[in-house]
Amino acid sequence: MAAMAQDQFEADFREELFQKYQQCPKCLMPKNVYYNTIEELKTAAQNTSSKSRHGYYILQKYEVLQCGDTEKLIKKRKSVDESPVYYVTIEDTYDIIKRAHIATGHGGRDKMKSNLGAKYANITKEALELFKSYCITCQEKRKRNKTAGVVKPLLSSEFNSRGQVDLVDMQSLSQAQFKWIMVYQCHLTKFVILRALTSKRAAEVAFQLLDIFLLFGAPAILQSDNGSEFTAKVISELKELWPQLIMVHGKPRHPQSQGSVERDNGDIKDMLHAWMADNKTQDWSVGLRFVQHQKNSAYHSGIKRTPFKALFGTDPRVGLVSSSLPLEVLERLQSEDDLLARLC
Ligand SMILES: [Zn+2]
Repeated sequence: MAAMAQDQFEADFREELFQKYQQCPKCLMPKNVYYNTIEELKTAAQNTSSKSRHGYYILQKYEVLQCGDTEKLIKKRKSVDESPVYYVTIEDTYDIIKRAHIATGHGGRDKMKSNLGAKYANITKEALELFKSYCITCQEKRKRNKTAGVVKPLLSSEFNSRGQVDLVDMQSLSQAQFKWIMVYQCHLTKFVILRALTSKRAAEVAFQLLDIFLLFGAPAILQSDNGSEFTAKVISELKELWPQLIMVHGKPRHPQSQGSVERDNGDIKDMLHAWMADNKTQDWSVGLRFVQHQKNSAYHSGIKRTPFKALFGTDPRVGLVSSSLPLEVLERLQSEDDLLARLC
């Protein structure tokens, strides 16, 4: 049933793009037009003596890029050193947007746009919004979240490094020995680290935090919506493990900003549900790592960049997917030699 709905979604989405193309053929491009343009470009380039107006027009707008044995239509570049910006056919648009939508944990228009980067010339904002509005998982999430309110974020400065540790109850979805999610977030970078826990004991939380602090550094202040008593217990457990560490517990948050964590942690559960549905599994402790990556690589409007970039100074790479080569070329690569042969 879900698979049928998904097929219907893809068909409707494509149909709507074709209709938009009929109204305004400026940006979107059906497959036949795409390949026609490539042929016209090649003819116009050869025809040095007598170019038609149309010939001049397309030569100024487009370029054909030979990628191994495939020809790609790209935006005209000023020099060959510029990264290619690819045109996409209406037929291929669904798969490309779907990939960005899943990679951002069912992200909205801006998150998808940031994920797609500057790689494509004609993926429109409308197409991204349309995709999001059609997505079945997102529609269900909207139904669940109708009651969520508006919230203010907490302020954090470099001199007041602050970490937040919260627990999300997963007992209803208890899987293997795991019953809780520990959510640790650095206030400055918004970087999130998620761990599956078997219990909510302070010792277990402290053990996970120790690993995080030794990797990324420890904040001066630790706070939790589970209350200052819980945080104090966690800190004293941490001191047992790491005697040099000095850290104070913060006040629980203001009631008006409380919603922010609840919404954020609800968001983690939603993303986890979406991941399990997309991957047809109940193994949420594995999905947690993907959700963590999705959250950290999604554009955060509060800091105007991804948390990943805020922490590491660069956006995350996903192997070669982050390169400027088209996907169908990437999918056929096996060895480094293949890669060198395809570089264009
Ligand atoms: Zn979605």
